[in-house]
Amino acid sequence: MFSSVKQASSDQNADEESKTRPPYTVSPEAREPFQRKYTGACYCGNVEIAASGDPVDVRVCHCHSCQRTHGASYQWSAFFKKDQVLFTKGLDSLEFYNTETRTPHHKLPVKILCKDCHAPVGDEGRNMMLVFPTVFDWKDGKMPDSFKPRCHMFYGDRTFDIQDGVPKFEGMKDDSEMLPECADG
Ligand SMILES: [Zn+2]
Ligand SMILES: [Zn+2]
Repeated sequence: MFSSVKQASSDQNADEESKTRPPYTVSPEAREPFQRKYTGACYCGNVEIAASGDPVDVRVCHCHSCQRTHGASYQWSAFFKKDQVLFTKGLDSLEFYNTETRTPHHKLPVKILCKDCHAPVGDEGRNMMLVFPTVFDWKDGKMPDSFKPRCHMFYGDRTFDIQDGVPKFEGMKDDSEMLPECADG
């Protein structure tokens, strides 16, 4: 019992420490120059986020976990390297949720929300930072092509068909069967 308590506290320390690294605030020198190519915010504006470049991948996930945590048919995510993303405001307004343990802790992979308006902002994975593109304010209101979905995952769990000509995986990307866009197609 003693050792499990100790384990829990060292996990917590590791969590706290990881929050000092990208995409969270670190000493400005370590992140300079950080080019704010895309900027955005949560619904209430207390959390602001910036990305320094285009996403390395963009996926739509139709799994049940994404559906239920987002209250939506699917999750649309832009994948960035962690140092491509920076929370520029509202670190104290961040709320974390780990879906594996179903606990509100910063344990990777973790969902990141605004604790004031509860809008989901992104998912921090072990190696990548996923940002939900809906947080960004597009220049002239036009989404750049680099944010268009490049594949659909867990399409087998979809709530409806999507005909966008993008590859559809039954489960994980590159690790499951490809599906036709329409159930009868
Ligand atoms: Zn908010
Ligand atoms: Zn999912």
